[in-house]
Amino acid sequence: MLDVLAFGAHPDDVEMTSGGLLCRLVDAGLAVGIIDLTRGELGTRGTPEVRTKEAQAAARIMGARVRECLDMPDGAVRNTAEARIEVIRALRKYRPRLIIIPYWECEHPDHANTGRLVKESAYLAGLKKIDTGQERFRPARVIHYMTHHRFEPSFIVPIDEYFERKMEAVRAHASQFYRPDAPDEDETRISQPGFLDLLALRDRTYGAMVGAMYGEPYFMRGILRIENPFALWCRT
Ligand SMILES: [Zn+2]
Repeated sequence: MLDVLAFGAHPDDVEMTSGGLLCRLVDAGLAVGIIDLTRGELGTRGTPEVRTKEAQAAARIMGARVRECLDMPDGAVRNTAEARIEVIRALRKYRPRLIIIPYWECEHPDHANTGRLVKESAYLAGLKKIDTGQERFRPARVIHYMTHHRFEPSFIVPIDEYFERKMEAVRAHASQFYRPDAPDEDETRISQPGFLDLLALRDRTYGAMVGAMYGEPYFMRGILRIENPFALWCRT
């Protein structure tokens, strides 16, 4: 059983987009897990074995209790009936009240499809007649993290004290990043020498919007229910 479960299409998606929030929730005493839909085997760099080891190291740095892979095909994540059953099984197994998933629009179809697949599965997991031999379960809240497609955030989580740990988890995916000792490796978007700076700049930009050094943007559907605006915003 977990309190929080984050889903990513590829083994480094969750740390780059939500690593700060996951560290914060772990430090708040919550049981946090990560599910990667693929092993990232289409990636230009790193073998699936290397990427799995890196993903486990990153999970340890963030303090996640569980990191699983559903072994869906990289580059071909689809919102099919079979895929939804896989996700429903995972949700019913871990019963997380909060799930953190990609926004459903992105130029990378795996990210967009992961957003749609997990969102729909979260609803369907609550239907008794979808039989997986497990108790039905529906998360209380779904929030979406930002991949490539920009959206107006519903809220931004300040991550100043978690930024270094988040970046350490990102750097655990060493096969994906620029290595001065291996200049002949094929280049990818994230293997450019400046990529980690760009990632930090994005967190810096969203942090500045809420008076923090670093922040992560999130989107939620629906309207926030707030009983005491004073307690939420005006406590000194
Ligand atoms: Zn990705």
